[in-house]
Amino acid sequence: MKQSRMFIPTMRETPQDAESLSHRYMLKAGMIKQMASGIYTYLPITKLVLNNIEQIVREEMNNIGGVEIQMPVLHPRELWEESGRWQAYGSELMRMKDRHDRDFALGPTHEEIITALLRDELKSYKKLPLTLFQIQTKFRDELRPRFGLLRGREFIMKDAYSFHSNEASLNETYRDMYNAYSNIFSRVGLNYRAVEADSGAIGGSHTHEFMALSEIGEDIIAYTDESGYAANVEKAACPVPEMMADAEQRALEKVATPGVDSCLALADHLNIELIDTTKTMVLKVDGEFVMILIRGDHELNEIKVRDYFRAGEIEFASDEEIRGVMKASPGSLGPVEASVPVYIDHQVNVMSNYPTGANIDGYHFINVNHGRDFETAGTGDFRFITEGERAEDDSGAVKFMKGIEVGQVFQLGTKYSEAMNLNVLDENGRSVPVLMGCYGVGVSRTLSAIIESHHDDRGIIWPKSVTPFDIHIITANPKDEEARNAAESLYETLGREYKVLYDDRKERAGVKFADSDLIGLPYRVVVGRGIKEGKVEIKARDSEETAEVDISQVTEYLK
Ligand code: ATP
Ligand code: MG
Ligand code: MG
Ligand code: MG
Repeated sequence: MKQSRMFIPTMRETPQDAESLSHRYMLKAGMIKQMASGIYTYLPITKLVLNNIEQIVREEMNNIGGVEIQMPVLHPRELWEESGRWQAYGSELMRMKDRHDRDFALGPTHEEIITALLRDELKSYKKLPLTLFQIQTKFRDELRPRFGLLRGREFIMKDAYSFHSNEASLNETYRDMYNAYSNIFSRVGLNYRAVEADSGAIGGSHTHEFMALSEIGEDIIAYTDESGYAANVEKAACPVPEMMADAEQRALEKVATPGVDSCLALADHLNIELIDTTKTMVLKVDGEFVMILIRGDHELNEIKVRDYFRAGEIEFASDEEIRGVMKASPGSLGPVEASVPVYIDHQVNVMSNYPTGANIDGYHFINVNHGRDFETAGTGDFRFITEGERAEDDSGAVKFMKGIEVGQVFQLGTKYSEAMNLNVLDENGRSVPVLMGCYGVGVSRTLSAIIESHHDDRGIIWPKSVTPFDIHIITANPKDEEARNAAESLYETLGREYKVLYDDRKERAGVKFADSDLIGLPYRVVVGRGIKEGKVEIKARDSEETAEVDISQVTEYLK
């Protein structure tokens, strides 16, 4: 591809308003253009990389027997009513009406659609197991779209769904998916970790998240090196100093009847709408830090603290602030008047700032043993441990790292099949609900995660598996006709074996080199003055060394 014909609107200045490195580099390298908050046009370089990631995903899905389909983006309300998620999904669901005043949603995920599809088509267990997948644009009205493609309101996901007549079969596909996901994230060049996760609003029981390790990550992973387990802190054993337990106790004392009633009362008092969950968080109210316990009742499945939040009356403490408070004395925790259980919309994602979790039944690491890895406090159900603290029997010190959730695998069980009557006849002719699994890869988020971990201060360094082009040919001086002719013929030759981008623009060499570093193709071949002696310069993007190579030897050299 000739760069003069491409559309790569690179920027000289570093965009100031972009909050993450991948976001900045994607804007600067002319890869994306924002149209509205969390909504982007994918320009040519991005599209090429997305194609490559999608191809890897497709191959791995096909390898485990996944069959590709494409479901509608527009979902009729009725199906979402059947599962109960028209309400439960809350404000993240993008809703709209057609001309007949009928309600629709723009699909954020497709459990309802696929369950409805299969219940009409599936009659007997003999058709099972079955795994279907699609790669498609999803819509979620995220509370805080940010970091470019990392958290968009419109983004590309690969979503797969599997169907089974027995647990063993579901387990087997889950294991296959887990392995396929491991392959995908290895192949695209991510340093990732699969972690035990909380099943949250989607329901179901057994689930793992795939986390690309990165400081920009919004999730916190707790792990120990020794025992090899890792979990999202939403699910894990977590570190909070004893003072938090005190604060919790004090908070609970303020509440006559902790639980749903007091949550409702508080919500009423704060004039907020309740939605869900089982988390603990730190907020700043009137400039003071307050811990709020969110006691879960899974019946109530969502909440909006949002209006209150938007009104600016509650401010979420930053990571640094929380760490500061955690290190300081208990006294600095501030008043706990407002610290009563409250249900909060988990879209607010306060957990991302606060490493805590409960070591209570169902909320701890797989392989974590009570007594060995955590203790129960005398007064409450869970106790807190600090980072670096060693487990009693010395089986490991808990550590934390941040991760970007690039994928998740779920065993849904019969949640959707029961709600929506997806049954088959089993061996004995009895009608039984189908077991399901669902499996998502954030394709566009993965692209950003790759940039977060493959770059230097000059730009992106694409892993070969996903690079938009393999080789960047550059003419240093466009007026040098001999060099131009040599570059043209090299472009032809290399083009037979490689994907080549040829910078034939009439720009200064400095501009071309800067753009080339920014775009980050694995190899750069510069046709400059050396061409008089038949030489070109070759440099790998991830190395500082330049080699002088005879133009006839370039293909050989790149092998
Ligand atoms: P998050 O916790 O980051 O909000 P999620 O758990 O809501 O993600 P899933 O429902 O598990 O997301 O969707 C499957 C995958 O889709 C995620 O693992 C993630 O990689 C991707 N994804 C989810 N939301 C977004 C988004 N707003 N922008 C980009 N990718 C997303
Ligand atoms: Mg989400
Ligand atoms: Mg998540
Ligand atoms: Mg998830």
